[in-house]
Amino acid sequence: MKKTKEFLRRIFNIFAIKATIFFVRIFRKKVMAKCGHETYLKDVVIYNEIPKIITIEMEKPSYCHKCLQKMTIRCAWCGNPIFIGDSITINSPQDTYVIPKYAVKHNTYPTGLIGCTRISCCDMLGEMIGFWLPPGKVELTQEYKKASGLIKR
Ligand SMILES: [Zn+2]
Ligand SMILES: [Zn+2]
Repeated sequence: MKKTKEFLRRIFNIFAIKATIFFVRIFRKKVMAKCGHETYLKDVVIYNEIPKIITIEMEKPSYCHKCLQKMTIRCAWCGNPIFIGDSITINSPQDTYVIPKYAVKHNTYPTGLIGCTRISCCDMLGEMIGFWLPPGKVELTQEYKKASGLIKR
């Protein structure tokens, strides 16, 4: 019974993603990105059946959506995807925390792990300190650049 429910949920999820892709792409033209691939200016990227609509703001974008999708990382704490353009947190793990293999470290803070800003994952909105941007780097917010030090969790 539980298996059937899970199966139906997945079928519905896949259908919802397909419908989203259809409506996002309809009547849109493609442009050539600098990475060498054709892309829509607005399209859906998917990671583990979790979709995100990414809009590229320029006529000559640097990357297509397929390349942007490859830059997706996973939150060091909840494992959910962090897509290009998503807001992020950086925290140091407690000594007892088992760091997952997919966790991404931040180069400026060797102990800092990159996390997502989902309400289910990070308690304080104040923890948001930057964005995940192409080709796979953190852009810190101006406020955070002025402040210093990481919050442990
Ligand atoms: Zn590309
Ligand atoms: Zn998370």
